[in-house]
Amino acid sequence: MVKTQSNFRRFIKLVFNPFLCLFFLIILNMLMITKIFCINKIKEQEMNIDKQSLSYIKEIYNEVINEKPIFEEKVNDLKDIDNKIVKIKEKYFKNALEYEKKVLAGEGTKKIAYLTIDDGPYKNYTPSFLNVLDKYDILSTFFLLGKPNEMYDEIYQRIFDSGHTIANHTYSHAIWGGLYASASSFINDVLKQEKFLEEKLGVKTNILRFPGGSTTASSSLRNSIITRLRSLNYGYVDWNVSAGDSEKKPNKEIVYNNVINGAKNKKVIVILMHDFSYHSLSALPSIIEQLQKMDFIFLPLFYESSKIKK
Ligand SMILES: [Zn+2]
Repeated sequence: MVKTQSNFRRFIKLVFNPFLCLFFLIILNMLMITKIFCINKIKEQEMNIDKQSLSYIKEIYNEVINEKPIFEEKVNDLKDIDNKIVKIKEKYFKNALEYEKKVLAGEGTKKIAYLTIDDGPYKNYTPSFLNVLDKYDILSTFFLLGKPNEMYDEIYQRIFDSGHTIANHTYSHAIWGGLYASASSFINDVLKQEKFLEEKLGVKTNILRFPGGSTTASSSLRNSIITRLRSLNYGYVDWNVSAGDSEKKPNKEIVYNNVINGAKNKKVIVILMHDFSYHSLSALPSIIEQLQKMDFIFLPLFYESSKIKK
C-alpha cells in the first residue's frame, strides 16, 4: 500500500514537473507556429498562383493589344480590298504593256495570246469555259451582253471574281434590230451595258467589241461611232484569229485548226471565240496546250494594249 502511494506520488510529481510542463508548452507552441507558418505558406502559394495567372492573363492581353493593329489592318484590308485589286490590276497591266512592247519589238521568244470570249454569259457553257480557264490558270477577256435575268448573276460575278477582263459588247447585240441605225442608237446601247455591268459588278468598262466586228457598221457610221467612243474614253478591238465557231457546221477539229493555223507567224493574237459554242469549249484545252507549246502566253486585254484601237 505504501509502495502504491509512493508510485502515485512519483507519477503526480512527474506530470506536474515544471520542466516537463515547460517542455510540453514549447512543443505545443512550436506546433502552433508551424501551423500558422503552413497556413501562411499556403496563402502565399495561392497568392503566387494568382500572380502567375494575372501575369499570364496580362501577357495574353498584351499580345491581343499588340495584335489589335494587325487585326484592324486586316479588317481595313478587307474593306479596302476593291481598291487594292484595282491597284494590283494596274500594276499587272503596266507589266503586261511592257511585255507586249518587248514581244512586238522581237525581244525574246515568247508571244502573246489574248483570248476573247463573246456574247455571254450563257447558262450552259460559260461556267465550263471558266473551269477550263481555271484549270490552265489563264486569264481572258469576256465581251459581255446585258442579261438581266438573275440566273446569270452568279456567272457574271464568277467571271469578274476570276480576274478576267470585263468588256462591253453592247447591251442588246441587236445587229438587225436597230443597233446600227445611227451613232446615237449604238452609243446608247454601249452606255446601257456600261451601266448594267457597273451596277452588277462595280466595274466600269472601257473596251468595246462591235457586235459582228467594227466592219458591220458602214465606214461613215463607224467613224462617227469611233469619235463618240473616243470622247467617252473607250477603245475597241476586233480580232486577228477566229475560232469560226459561229459559222455553219463547226466542229471541235475545225475550231482547233482555225485557231492554231491562224496563230502561225503571229506574235500577238486576239482570238475570237463564243461561249455559246460547245465545239469551242471542247477544243479549248487542246488549243491552250498547243498555243503554249508554240510559246504563247495568255493575257487578259487592257485598255493600254496596242491591240485596243482608240
Ligand atoms: Zn457578238
